[in-house]
Amino acid sequence: MKIAFIGLGNMGGPMATNLVKAGLDVTVFDLSESAVQALESEGARRGESAEATVQGAEVVISMLPAGAHVRGLYLGRDGAPGLLDTLTAKPLIIDASTISPEDARTVGAAAAKRGLSYLDAPVSGGVGGAKAGTLTFIVGGDAAGFEQAKPVLEAMGKNIFHAGDIGSGQVAKICNNMLLGILMSGTAEALALGVKNGMDPAVLSEIMKQSSGGNWALNVYNPWPGVMEGSAASRDYQGGFLTDLMAKDLGLAWELALGSKSSVPMGSQARNLFALHSAQGNGGLDFSSIQTLYRAGDSS
Ligand code: NAD
Repeated sequence: MKIAFIGLGNMGGPMATNLVKAGLDVTVFDLSESAVQALESEGARRGESAEATVQGAEVVISMLPAGAHVRGLYLGRDGAPGLLDTLTAKPLIIDASTISPEDARTVGAAAAKRGLSYLDAPVSGGVGGAKAGTLTFIVGGDAAGFEQAKPVLEAMGKNIFHAGDIGSGQVAKICNNMLLGILMSGTAEALALGVKNGMDPAVLSEIMKQSSGGNWALNVYNPWPGVMEGSAASRDYQGGFLTDLMAKDLGLAWELALGSKSSVPMGSQARNLFALHSAQGNGGLDFSSIQTLYRAGDSS
């Protein structure tokens, strides 16, 4: 099967690599030359542009930072046409980026007008899950598109959910990430409190993992440096899931809340914490670096 993959960052790179490993014929494109080279060395074909990459593909997958990038890619930008206007065949389009449900519905409706099937399929599981091929895909779109996408998604993930119509994947993903933002900041807060009161962060983490405070952030993504081997915290918060992307997702949760007159006090608090952390120059660090916000001026 011929796949076009656009967006080879922290997540897209390993996801596309897993498609190559599964024996699929993968052509890739990214604005970053080094990202394209890395995939070429894994056995993918190089696309010279987004337009060239998708020609002849049966499935197009995008993994971009935010809604503006996804709209620009498919609908066009600054007067230039988007992919939907340059496609000569009718591939299934799967956007795995985390964007607003409204953006997903806008692109999905434009695709439908041209007779194209579009799915929003945001993921959960982090860079570790992308590398291991164990991501959770949360898919919005029609049942036929979902069934067509499933074998391709199974080459990159373990749990493939059909959340509902287009946009539903994003709603579920945004709820999940709002909870993750709350859990990560809460975990960082608890660790900082314990250390300030004489606890060893590793001992405290182990106790909380086996107690009722255990959660994904603590169990597999510990934010305290040196506690967990291989964690972003243990490599100076480089790579992983960037603070700016978490701030974006908490902003999406806030927009959803406004639009539905929902109250999200914990999500709002987390959004403010990550926005402040980003404003202090940490937007390009992994989101678990929120730990340093609680350690400001602390030499421990
Ligand atoms: P990233 O910033 O590492 O990668 C994005 C890539 O897209 C970059 O390589 C960039 O060069 C490329 N790009 C941007 N615009 C492009 C364009 N017009 N054409 C081609 N390439 C373009 O981001 P990421 O961490 O891989 O995240 C991607 C998406 O997945 C985001 O929406 C994020 O919220 C979501 N997500 C990330 C994680 C994570 O742990 N990193 C987990 C789940 C979901």
